Amino acid sequence: MSDYEKLLDKAYEALPEKSEKTERFELPKADIDITGNRTIIKNFKEIALTLRRNPLHLYKYITRELAAPGNMEGSRLILKGKIPPRIIYQKIENYINDYVLCKECGKPDTQIVDEQGVKMLKCEACGARKAIREVR
Ligand SMILES: [Zn+2]
Repeated sequence: MSDYEKLLDKAYEALPEKSEKTERFELPKADIDITGNRTIIKNFKEIALTLRRNPLHLYKYITRELAAPGNMEGSRLILKGKIPPRIIYQKIENYINDYVLCKECGKPDTQIVDEQGVKMLKCEACGARKAIREVR
C-alpha cells in the first residue's frame, strides 16, 4: 500500500459513523502561512462556515482579539504582522468556546440570534439560550 493510500485509509477511518448520535465536534484547523510581514489564514472562510458562523463575525473577533488589521480576500484572511500560529489557534478556540459551543450540552449546533437587542447563543440541540458578548 502506498503512503497516499494509507493516508486515505486513515482519513476514512476518522469519518464519524452516521448512525452515531454523539459525534465528536471536529475543531477546524487553521492553515496558516507567514510571508514577509503578513500572516495569512488560508482556510479562513472554510473555518467560519464549518462553525456555521458568518465569516465577517469571526473576522471582527480575530482582528480585534489580535489587535491586527486585516482583510478578507476570497477564502483567506490576511493579517498585518507576523502572528505566531499558536496564538491564532488559541483565539479560534476561544471563539468556539464563546460563540459556538452550547454551554449546557457542549454541542456546536447553535445559532446567534437577536432578542430585543441582546445577542443570544441559542442551542438547536437542547434549546438552551445564553447571552453573549457582542463583537464590535
Ligand atoms: Zn445545548
